[in-house]
Amino acid sequence: MRKRKSLAEYEKGILEGDRVILSQAITLVESNLESDQLLASHLVQQVMSQTGNSIRIGITGVPGVGKSTFIEAFGEMLLAEGKKVAVLAIDPTSQKTKGSILGDKTRMEKLSGDSRAFIRPSPSGVTLGGVSSKTREAMLLCEAAGFDVILIETVGVGQSETAVKGMVDFFLLLMLAGAGDELQGIKKGIMEMADALFINKAEEENMTAAKRAKQHYQNALHLFPLGENGWSPQVLLGSAMQKKGMKACWDLIEDYCQLQKRNGHFDKNRAGQRVKWLEESVLDLLGRAFFSQKEIRSEFEIGKEKVKSGIAHPLVLANDLLEKFLKK
Ligand code: GDP
Repeated sequence: MRKRKSLAEYEKGILEGDRVILSQAITLVESNLESDQLLASHLVQQVMSQTGNSIRIGITGVPGVGKSTFIEAFGEMLLAEGKKVAVLAIDPTSQKTKGSILGDKTRMEKLSGDSRAFIRPSPSGVTLGGVSSKTREAMLLCEAAGFDVILIETVGVGQSETAVKGMVDFFLLLMLAGAGDELQGIKKGIMEMADALFINKAEEENMTAAKRAKQHYQNALHLFPLGENGWSPQVLLGSAMQKKGMKACWDLIEDYCQLQKRNGHFDKNRAGQRVKWLEESVLDLLGRAFFSQKEIRSEFEIGKEKVKSGIAHPLVLANDLLEKFLKK
């Protein structure tokens, strides 16, 4: 059985940058045991003053676009720049496969072998709401442990991107050139969230297509209204496999951060994200309290059948249940 450390032991280990203890603390964050979660929350609270000093970058793109290859190359470049890098993955357990899309691959071998890097796959068996809160806590622990850059990876298929956008400073979308459909199954909404597009696999043999794609996406991005942060999204070309375009990408992110810090939007964005986290937590806790009541739960199950067969109106039923819950 896993032995829990004391709050003070976790805190000390994390502040000393001990990767083993950091890893154990994230396991605590990911645990579904209430006592573990409580301890984890106290730990995050305890190290809060040591957080916030990293650059938080979200990286997304469809499977096969080269995310892990990119993160490996980008991470190595950052290490060479003297940065410490943590990689977290958001991969909500698929309802269909009940498995992890990201966890089963051997990924980022070089990066994971370096003591200045920390790689954490997604917690498994957790829904998106749960993953996003847990990833936020894991991110804060990594910051307290002294990591300068946090890369948060998602598979670019939908909801999880919104969750990541809600916790990072910069959102990078990896794309391919000439892969048929202009948007390659990437939803338009995701493109609108991106602060930069990186067209990967831009190598000699498809450089013309890559340049054309760059022009195309740059034009498409110009059609979106300029955000209130004053940033106009950029399109970059590169090859994760050949480790090309990594420094240019980092330079762009640094430019972005400088601009955001100058115009006050960097802190404003983070403050807004914290408030959103609070709102989400309230809703999450309310939902849990609601469903943890046995009577409510069983009435809900009965109501579900009525709703399925169409004899009850979901909203009326929800109102009834809520009234009962509030009277308890
Ligand atoms: P992910 O599913 O988005 O994480 O993609 P991977 O990083 O696993 O890459 C998918 C495939 O594309 C692998 O076979 C990689 O070797 C290959 N790949 C990734 N980046 C590049 C690149 O820049 N150029 C080329 N030619 N292949 C790449």
